Amino acid sequence: MNSSPRQNLLMDEILCCADCGVAGGVSLKVCKACMLARYCDPTCQRSHWPKHKRECKQRAAELHDEALFKDPPPKEDCPICFLPMPTKLISCMTLPPATISSVPIYDYEVTNEDLASKAAKVYYSCCGKSICRGCVYSFMQSGNIEKCPFCKADHVNKTDEERVDELMKRVEVTDAGSMMVLGSYHSHGQLGLQQDREKAMELWKQAAELGSSLAQYHLGIYYDAGGDLTKAKFHYEAAAMAGDEAARYNLGCMEYYVLFRKRGTSCEALDNCCISWAS
Ligand SMILES: [Zn+2]
Ligand SMILES: [Zn+2]
Ligand SMILES: [Zn+2]
Ligand SMILES: [Zn+2]
Repeated sequence: MNSSPRQNLLMDEILCCADCGVAGGVSLKVCKACMLARYCDPTCQRSHWPKHKRECKQRAAELHDEALFKDPPPKEDCPICFLPMPTKLISCMTLPPATISSVPIYDYEVTNEDLASKAAKVYYSCCGKSICRGCVYSFMQSGNIEKCPFCKADHVNKTDEERVDELMKRVEVTDAGSMMVLGSYHSHGQLGLQQDREKAMELWKQAAELGSSLAQYHLGIYYDAGGDLTKAKFHYEAAAMAGDEAARYNLGCMEYYVLFRKRGTSCEALDNCCISWAS
């Protein structure tokens, strides 16, 4: 829709440079942190910063919280039963309370190997599909051990090398699921691969860029374990915004743990835990 000359005039009057007051209309550049203040150029922006700093940081924090606490996108459906797939099989509430309070940052898969085998979905490198655990279970119950429930490819007798090759072929065609899985094999030194955390991180970063919330969660775990809490929080937040409950739970724990040590309380910590428990 074209705007009238009168509307353009109004826009120019409304959109003025926050520093020098020149009416520049839509040609003014908006402050990317607060998305409110507009400027002619970086010189005006720099000159206005001392006056703008406080308001800018406050609005940027509000925008961040709005993004963090809005409803995550709908979960991916299982391609067989068409039910939404949870990212984890167990909920935080199934953990004993003593564990929650004594281990502030909890990674189910690292802490309990048995639970790792109970992931809610299984990735198949033959067709690149992730299938819900229920469909995998019923397919296996009907005698189809080691077959893909979706494309029926037979994985029995495949060597570790063939399994890695299959994953690598899918990595080459930018399949985030295969990057995630191959990264985990590198991380744990499985399927005959040397343990290589750097390689794992590289693959997870690629998968995260392609939108894998699970990769964001794993990056969070690794930065967390390495003590880089700023990067851990960044990746947990990205995962939580994409709907990963475990990442949101860990975020809540991080906030709570930091504030608990300061003997304070945090609404944000409780919000994150409540959202992850409700999921
Ligand atoms: Zn200006
Ligand atoms: Zn600003
Ligand atoms: Zn299913
Ligand atoms: Zn398949």
